[in-house]
Amino acid sequence: MNKKRVFSGIQPTGEIHLGNYLGAIKNWVALQEKYNCFYSIVDYHAITVPYLPQKMSQFILNTAATLIACGINPKKSVLFIQSEVPEHTELCWIFNSLTPFSELKRMTQFKDKAKKYPHNVNAGLLNYPLLQAADILLYKAEIVPVGKDQSQHIELTREIARKFNRKFGKTFPEPKAHFSKIPRIMSLTDPTKKMSKSDQPESYISLNDNIQIIQKKLAKAVTDTARKRKTDPGNPLKCNLYSLHRLFSSKKEQAEISLACQKAKFGCLECKKILARNIYKQLEPIQKQKQKLLKDPEKIWEILDEGRKKAKEVAQQTLKEVKKKMGLSFNF
Ligand code: ADP
Repeated sequence: MNKKRVFSGIQPTGEIHLGNYLGAIKNWVALQEKYNCFYSIVDYHAITVPYLPQKMSQFILNTAATLIACGINPKKSVLFIQSEVPEHTELCWIFNSLTPFSELKRMTQFKDKAKKYPHNVNAGLLNYPLLQAADILLYKAEIVPVGKDQSQHIELTREIARKFNRKFGKTFPEPKAHFSKIPRIMSLTDPTKKMSKSDQPESYISLNDNIQIIQKKLAKAVTDTARKRKTDPGNPLKCNLYSLHRLFSSKKEQAEISLACQKAKFGCLECKKILARNIYKQLEPIQKQKQKLLKDPEKIWEILDEGRKKAKEVAQQTLKEVKKKMGLSFNF
C-alpha cells in the first residue's frame, strides 16, 4: 500500500527558534518513520518580506544543516529548496484564479505582516497562502505538520482542494494540519505574541544559542509573577516559562517548580536557571551535529539537489494531471 504523504516548509529567513522546533520540526522528524515526507526550504515565501540577497544561500545552507541536525534524515525524507521546483509557482498561479481576493485579504498573517512592513505590502504577501496551498497540494499531501499560526492557511488549502475537485474532477485530498503538544510557543518578551524569527533576538531562543545566551534571554523573559508586578506568588499554569518547563523539564522538576512557585518558595530566577540548563541539554547535541555538517557544505547542497530531483518527479506528475483536467494540455 502507498504511504500517505506529508508536506511542510520552513522559511530561510533567520535563525530557527524553539517555536519552529517544538511546533513543527520535532513532528517532522517523528512523521518520517511512518509516512512519505516532503520538507521544503521555502525561499519564495521568504522574499515577500525585506531580505538580503547576498545572504540567502547561506541562510538556506544553515536551515538545511539545522534540519538534518534535528533529525531529518535525507534517506527517509525528501529535503529540497522550493524555488528549485518551479511547479510550485505554476500551481500557485492556477490557484490564484480560483480564490476570491476577499478571502486572501482577511488572512490574519497577511494583516499582521502588512502592519509590520507598511512600506512593502506587496502582492506576494497577499498571495502567500496560495503558494502555500500549492506547496502542499502539489504533493497531494494529507498531513501537514505545522504550528497553530498556520491553521487558517491550512483551512484555505482545504477549501481550494474542494473547489478544484468540484470544478475539474477529484484530484486533491483535503490535507489536515498536524499539531504538537504545545502548538504555539509564545515570545519571551511578549507572551501574548507567538515566538517569531522576524522579531528581535531577545524574544526567541535560537537553536544556536549557547547556555550563557539562553540564561540571559530567560533572565529578561516575562513571567506570570513579573506580569503581576511582583506582588503575588506566580501561577505556573499561566506562566509562559512554565509551559516550556512542561516540554524540557522532568515530571519531578515540574512538580517541584509548580509548588515552589505557588508558595513563593523560590523566585523566578531559580526557575529560569533550571529551565536554561534543561533547554541547553537538548540543544547542545543539535548544535554539535550542525557544526559537523557545516564543515562539508558540498554534501548539504548534494542532499538538496537529490531532494529536488525526487520532489520534481511528483510535482511534474501532479501538474500534468491538473493542466489536463483544466483543458491546458496540448499535442503539438
Ligand atoms: P517564523 O514564523 O518564525 O518565520 P516559519 O514561517 O518559517 O517561522 O514557520 C516554520 C514552521 O514553524 C511553521 O510550521 C510554523 O507554524 C512553525 N512555527 C513558527 N513559529 C511558531 C511558534 N511560535 N510556535 C509554534 N510553531 C511555530
